[in-house]
Amino acid sequence: MDAEALRARVVEQYAQHVNPGLAKLMQFAGFGVEVRAEGCELIDQDGRRYLDFLGGYGVFALGHRHPQIVEAVHRQLDVQPLSGKTFFNPLLGELAARLAAIAPGDLQFSFFSNSGAEAVEAALKFAKVATGRTKIVATEGGYHGKTLGALAVTGREKYRKPVGPLMPGPCFVPFGDPHALVAAVDHDTAAVIIEPIQGEGGIHIPPDGTLLALREACDRNGALLIFDEVQTGMGRTGRMFGCEHEAVAPDIMTLAKALGGGVMPIGATLGTPAVWERVFAQNPLIHTSTFGGNPLACAAALATLDVIEGEGLVARAAALGERIVSGLRDRLDGCELVAEVRGRGLMIGVEFRLDDVGELVIAQMVKRGLVAAYTLNNPRVIRLEPPLTVTDAQADFAVATVAAAVEETTDLLAALL
Ligand SMILES: *Cc1c(COP(=O)(O)O)cnc(C)c1O
Repeated sequence: MDAEALRARVVEQYAQHVNPGLAKLMQFAGFGVEVRAEGCELIDQDGRRYLDFLGGYGVFALGHRHPQIVEAVHRQLDVQPLSGKTFFNPLLGELAARLAAIAPGDLQFSFFSNSGAEAVEAALKFAKVATGRTKIVATEGGYHGKTLGALAVTGREKYRKPVGPLMPGPCFVPFGDPHALVAAVDHDTAAVIIEPIQGEGGIHIPPDGTLLALREACDRNGALLIFDEVQTGMGRTGRMFGCEHEAVAPDIMTLAKALGGGVMPIGATLGTPAVWERVFAQNPLIHTSTFGGNPLACAAALATLDVIEGEGLVARAAALGERIVSGLRDRLDGCELVAEVRGRGLMIGVEFRLDDVGELVIAQMVKRGLVAAYTLNNPRVIRLEPPLTVTDAQADFAVATVAAAVEETTDLLAALL
């Protein structure tokens, strides 16, 4: 089948059997068919290479098919891919111990699942069981996944409303208002759930001291603090975990996206001994998952920890982030479409002054060989989340390309008006 026939066929299959609206949306953005990926590049049906600055919304911290992860998974595939679950799984034990060693505070225990939303579901259950309370303080614009529990604490009406009534108990507070967040925590509160940097909400960094103030408010009220590090974890922000920027440790922490090294899906919910005691002491089977923590996924995650450490990727993310953010600020300075460039490490957002501009800029970027996307809860913001392994030259190409795409969009809009 030639390339154009392949593309047409996949688009038609999406339109007929997957999701017609999504098919239209993806075509409009100029996305083709991904047939292969390696390193920091995606390759489409025509063999065209794109620098991947979307990075699977944070999944591809190590790029695509990092050789050490692929090798670890290949090796495990020949030994035991999925666990029988009745015997002890040695890789699961090893991964839990490795995470405990690097996690902030005394997050000593891990429960493994297969996705971010599942990791959040477990976190919410654990908080409710451990406290016997139901109120959950969550943030406007926050994103925690689209399963029913995770959606209940996700702060965007557009996704919640058609599905209601959802789990009762959430209370939404503006992310950028530490006083309101603290004031919402009381003696009925089971937990506060918050991203150390809001990802889908539009790459928002909380005001300094927010996480610490929440830590104190939770301690005063016997509530638990949950950090959703599904997107910010594993070095993305220039620290191993996003909460390390404020040196605050949660009672429960969720991980997923980059944890499987861009090769395997895996989610993790970490907790302190105090939480685990209250959740699992009565019934060790109160929360389980058939595929969670399977040997293939654990092998990938263990290799991921080795690569992040071995290649010094956390420091690399911090340095590259500064290079890209300052490059973008220089190039976009005085550009009337752009409201702000912000970020920490390689979690970077470019905010426009108008809603529909992001989509147009992305189409121009794709045309020039650079892939990005807007944030799910905020179409004004496009996010750049490249692999932590990109080279300086690739980073500079991305900066120049974003600037060119914004310029072209400015000209196009001027011609329309
Ligand atoms: C992506 C994301 C999730 C949901 O993860 P899925 O694997 O898509 O279910 C949850 N929380 C945060 C912060 C995320 O970025």
